[in-house]
Amino acid sequence: MKILLDYDLTNMNTFRVPARAKFFTEIQSERDLSELFVAPEFKNNEKLFLGGGSNVLFTKNFDGIVVLNKLKGIEILDEDTESVEIRAMSGEIWHDLVTFSVERGYWGIENLSLIPGTVGAAPMQNIGAYGAELQNVLESVEALEVETGARKIFRKEECDFGYRNSVFKNEIKGKYFISAAILRLNKISKPKITYRHLREYFDQNKTEAKSSKDISKAVIDIRKSKLPDPAVIPNAGSFFKNVFVNEKEIEKILAKYPDLPYFEESGTKKIPAGWLIEKAGWKGKRTGNAGVHEKHALVLVNYGGATGEEIKNLAEQITASVYEKFGLKLIPEVNLI
Ligand SMILES: Cc1cc2nc3c(=O)[nH]c(=O)nc-3n(C[C@H](O)[C@H](O)[C@H](O)COP(=O)(O)OP(=O)(O)OC[C@H]3O[C@@H](n4cnc5c(N)ncnc54)[C@H](O)[C@@H]3O)c2cc1C
Repeated sequence: MKILLDYDLTNMNTFRVPARAKFFTEIQSERDLSELFVAPEFKNNEKLFLGGGSNVLFTKNFDGIVVLNKLKGIEILDEDTESVEIRAMSGEIWHDLVTFSVERGYWGIENLSLIPGTVGAAPMQNIGAYGAELQNVLESVEALEVETGARKIFRKEECDFGYRNSVFKNEIKGKYFISAAILRLNKISKPKITYRHLREYFDQNKTEAKSSKDISKAVIDIRKSKLPDPAVIPNAGSFFKNVFVNEKEIEKILAKYPDLPYFEESGTKKIPAGWLIEKAGWKGKRTGNAGVHEKHALVLVNYGGATGEEIKNLAEQITASVYEKFGLKLIPEVNLI
């Protein structure tokens, strides 16, 4: 394991904003991990673990050590006729794990196909898409306490998962390095295609979701056709979370905006943040080198040369304007560093 100084992070984040790390290292093995935890550069500085950099916005240089996680390995721990328990190291690319699963005919993460980033970041925000969430299949998370290096296993119940949320983003933020995730996947067919875009895909193509691979392919096709590719136009996916309100609040907004779309979700109402941003007039708007995607109001983009600060300012302007119009506070999904 080598620790580098004053390292350029521009290519380490999908927003492609410039930022430098005081120290930088890459871990590829358990040995690297052990060495890292005793290194003075690690012990005496602020730490940031980085996977694909697809859910971060660097707003300034990082005055500490950035650890790029390349811990690899996927193994089957246990299986019976109905299910299989899989352990994936946290530096595995999330979609590679999905491919591993659907190639073997397992069910459970096919709806999460093509979500950028690593396995280790997935529990951070309980990744979700097309009607599925990581918490539906996650059994536990293996982690190391940053302060002591002590190993800890977080059972699913301890992860406190919610919509794009977990204990790792809140109470214990920055206190643990996630080293692996244990998932329990199904061997028995469990298609989840109630999500509108998926249903339409299978209806329009007159095909059936016979295997998890079919669903994975559908999700890949839909995502490729709908979502802006960070390799073409740098972005970090949805910048804000959708907004949850109660019955009383929704009635108040509906009285003023009868066309407000919302969805029932576990006793609350979910309002698409993209709709709020669009209605507040931000879709397709550009300020300097940063902007709101012309087709996806929820996606902020770097048109080239934008700084993290510029994107953060844009996000703050959007938040203020949505609050003024609807009285609703947008919360970033992206981690501001
Ligand atoms: C085009 C696009 C589409 C997207 N679509 C979706 C979607 O459909 N659903 C969804 O949920 N998300 C989506 N995202 C967001 C992103 O893909 C996920 O949040 C993903 O899990 C981030 O993984 P990463 O490895 O890139 O994390 P990073 O950006 O590297 O890190 C994210 C956060 O996790 C922390 N972290 C990373 N690894 C570890 C670790 N091993 N231990 C402790 N902390 C760690 C980092 O410090 C940081 O705070 C999308 C992003 C993009 C660019």
